[in-house]
Amino acid sequence: MHKKFDLIAIGGGSGGIATVNKAAQFGAKCALIESQALGGTCVNVGCVPKKLMWLASSTAATLSDATGYGFSPAAHHLDWDQLVAKRQAYIEKLHVAYANRLAKNQVELIQGKAHFLSPHLLQVGENTLEAPHIVIATGGKPYWPSITGAELGIDSNGFFALDNQPRSVAVVGAGYIAVELAGMLAGFGCETSLVFRHDSVLRNFDTLLSEKLMENYQQLGVRLVPHFTPTQVSRDANGKLHLSAQEQKIADLDTVIWAIGRTPHTSELNLAAANLTCAPNGSLIVDAYQNTTMPGIYAIGDVTGQKALTPVAIGAGRRLATRLFGGKVNSKLDYDNIPSVVFSHPPIGTTGMTEQEAREEYGDDLTIYTTSFTPMSQALLPHPLRTAMKLITVKSTDKVVGCHIIGDGADEMLQGFALAIKMGATKADFDNVVAIHPTSAEELVTLT
Ligand code: FAD
Ligand code: NDP
Repeated sequence: MHKKFDLIAIGGGSGGIATVNKAAQFGAKCALIESQALGGTCVNVGCVPKKLMWLASSTAATLSDATGYGFSPAAHHLDWDQLVAKRQAYIEKLHVAYANRLAKNQVELIQGKAHFLSPHLLQVGENTLEAPHIVIATGGKPYWPSITGAELGIDSNGFFALDNQPRSVAVVGAGYIAVELAGMLAGFGCETSLVFRHDSVLRNFDTLLSEKLMENYQQLGVRLVPHFTPTQVSRDANGKLHLSAQEQKIADLDTVIWAIGRTPHTSELNLAAANLTCAPNGSLIVDAYQNTTMPGIYAIGDVTGQKALTPVAIGAGRRLATRLFGGKVNSKLDYDNIPSVVFSHPPIGTTGMTEQEAREEYGDDLTIYTTSFTPMSQALLPHPLRTAMKLITVKSTDKVVGCHIIGDGADEMLQGFALAIKMGATKADFDNVVAIHPTSAEELVTLT
């Protein structure tokens, strides 16, 4: 069968869904092609199951911390099966909600894998689909090392598929996923090693955050293993895994998790038929309006190699749909000052420039405000986790250009500060706000 649409999105994840729903609301006839579960990475193997696991792990911490407030110690045991079943039931509800929304907007959902036959013609199974506007929103997939025995490990998708709680785990990597998985596994009581190549994790973040995170992880009992580049994984007769580097070994593991980055998902699209080529890392190159080099073909979200966050994919998709069908020819996502949270224990919230980036741009024209303290939420606990904050301001304009927080509540604290910074807030604006007491957030408006 051959079908024609105004717009087709390839990939039913955060970006694709947002684009077609928005375009359909402007009256466009849209199709969405998805080869797996609706919702993509975020809903099925990303933000959503991750946040539920993080919340469960935070609950475990709260239960243990209760003794700090005088409660007698209570035995608590995590029923992994129940947690996973409830998590998956929640995701099932999201699948239904997404499908209903698409149906309400009269978007045709086509199940299958798409590839290009020519720039505006796609094949999905037996069918061909045609549209003047095609959005590639195929996301990314976990990157695996090419070392002997790598297949004995799992990636973040494998983490969400675990039937049993592992007892002893090595998480390899130094970015968002490695840090988040290591934190939550330790919170569940697993013996957790966080294994990374250099001195520190989160090297692309402000150094205050990476330093304080490592201090806090040591406090939590995460074993930090720097300068470890895995060369081999092996399994012994007892079924235990051994992770080796040149001169080091981490032995007796139940699970090794690769969290060493993600690669754009473009290899199956037959891009050559659309006259499209990729960057060496496989990502699709786009301009500020998400246009690829082929007119009428666009790319959004993780497949572009731009900031790989759900709200970025959604924001880019909605603005693209508004530009194409909503009459706003200049509609595009502003990629400056994108806030993000790392769901570590405690969480990290960050927006704007790191100190290093600000130094490169402004040299000495900077004032840096920092604070580090034990928040009240941790004060009565035997092993309190520390909070730290940094504001980066430009001396000559007083503008705040970076805000970095690690500590209890940082995840919910950041959004409002991100808004203020996006609006161009100055340090004087921060100082003019009356603090809310007693909170951790008040420290950000009382920094001297
Ligand atoms: P995806 O959501 O990956 O969707 C792409 C879809 O395209 C997939 O469903 C795939 O099956 C489909 N597809 C691929 N090829 C084809 C084809 N040829 N034909 C048909 N369909 C195809 N971001 C946050 O903002 N906050 C978080 O807390 C967060 N946590 C994360 C935790 C983890 C473990 C991971 C892995 C990611 C996390 N992210 C988070 C990142 C976020 O999930 C992604 O940025 C977001 O999902 C990108 O959306 P997308 O639409 O670009 O791609
Ligand atoms: P990241 O890019 O964040 O981090 C991967 C890190 O792994 C690299 O920075 C690198 O650190 C290290 N690494 C790379 N290659 C190797 C290797 N061969 N061996 C050992 N270590 C290696 O990738 P993630 O997979 O953690 O996450 C992908 C993206 O998904 C994130 O960038 C983020 O955009 C998104 N995400 C967002 C979340 C959120 O918003 N909370 C949560 C999870 C993911 P180094 O160079 O220091 O060794």
